[in-house]
Amino acid sequence: MEYLVKVGGVIDGVSDATTSPRVIAIEDGTIKHVARPEEVSSGARILDASRYVAMPGLIDCHVHVRTNGETDRRLQPLTDIPGESTLRSLKNAQSDLRSGYTTLRDCGGMEAVALRNAANRGEVLSPRIFAAGYGITATAGHMDQDRYVGARVTSNPGVADSPDEVRSVARSLLKLGVDLIKTNATGGSFGNGHRPNPGAQQMTEEELRAAVEVAHMAGKRVASHAMGEAGIRAAVNAGVDSIEHGFWLTEDVAAQMAEQGSFLVPTMATLFRNTTRGFAGPGMTEEWKEHLRQRAIRVRQRLFESIRYALEAGVKIVAGSDMGGGPFLYHGECATELTQLVEAGLGNMDAIKAATSRAAELIDRDDVLGRISEGYLADIVLVDGDPSKDITLLEDGAGVRGVILGGKPVLLTRELDPDGSDIRSMWGRVSWVVE
Ligand SMILES: [Zn+2]
Repeated sequence: MEYLVKVGGVIDGVSDATTSPRVIAIEDGTIKHVARPEEVSSGARILDASRYVAMPGLIDCHVHVRTNGETDRRLQPLTDIPGESTLRSLKNAQSDLRSGYTTLRDCGGMEAVALRNAANRGEVLSPRIFAAGYGITATAGHMDQDRYVGARVTSNPGVADSPDEVRSVARSLLKLGVDLIKTNATGGSFGNGHRPNPGAQQMTEEELRAAVEVAHMAGKRVASHAMGEAGIRAAVNAGVDSIEHGFWLTEDVAAQMAEQGSFLVPTMATLFRNTTRGFAGPGMTEEWKEHLRQRAIRVRQRLFESIRYALEAGVKIVAGSDMGGGPFLYHGECATELTQLVEAGLGNMDAIKAATSRAAELIDRDDVLGRISEGYLADIVLVDGDPSKDITLLEDGAGVRGVILGGKPVLLTRELDPDGSDIRSMWGRVSWVVE
């Protein structure tokens, strides 16, 4: 079943400029062609979005759908009844979808795997999910923090303390059907008082290499949470595909990453929100919260330096916001990452590519996702204005007037979706109507 989307211009995800008005033909969930209006003969059903600019559905390469920035999120595994966190994941992912994100790469939590499976079976409406499952971490490492309970009640099955144990955990993850393997090369930058050395290396190069070997044999990629210098270096030496965070990236390692073709996912939105919204959590004193906020301000300055090194070396930078992964990091706000990347020196269009074609490259789907081009899946966002001129249009989904997922309009303005319209007759009710 074919229909046409008339738009005021197209950002295709790879070109450097927005086009003049175009007509996008969609059939069976795929983009059939993109043509100038005069080249299209009428007859097919039309979604007239001439007022809007079309861009590829956005991709966020670092989220945690199981949480939504709750200040007590680390207690949830203790207080949730079974199923609760998975349903929460669905709601969180839908918030991202409404704001223009049609694909999410989840960097920690089995809930994302369950959500992906349900979405792939067509049982729930969700962005496309690429999920890491639980992260591999050393004992007492970044993803093994039973901070508030003092007991191993919420233990992570991803704990591994030797290359052999890493291999075993990685294979178990592959058996569960993950799309990528997440490793934790270093600690977080904001551990509690008993972790005085933020970003310290926690997995050895040999352990990281074991994860890479197992994942690559299965054709999967490895992401590594790596903040401090030594851990970033070890992860890059081990051959991981992406460095997540990379707060203390150095010039020489940036050069090595460029040579190896590894990606940097700098998660700038998290530090930005840490500095503007601060911290909170069970048992945190006011003094400690302010200490962490001040540290975030300093680390953020260091991250700007990392981005500069990455840009100079030609490292592939990909957008990942870490929404869900910290206090006050809310789903629906993934595009904060794009405004932050622009603040760090990327052009508007480069930031858009970091969340479209380049992001698709990291998840190994650049043949079908991240572009508005013939043969690509019809994941399209309609924006009131041109984000390549004003990137803040995407923030919180403020300028988003339509979202098409696999050819199906899931969000449209009332104007685009009047009762009895052709589009409505094709799809039934769209999922969300915005004013
Ligand atoms: Zn994260």
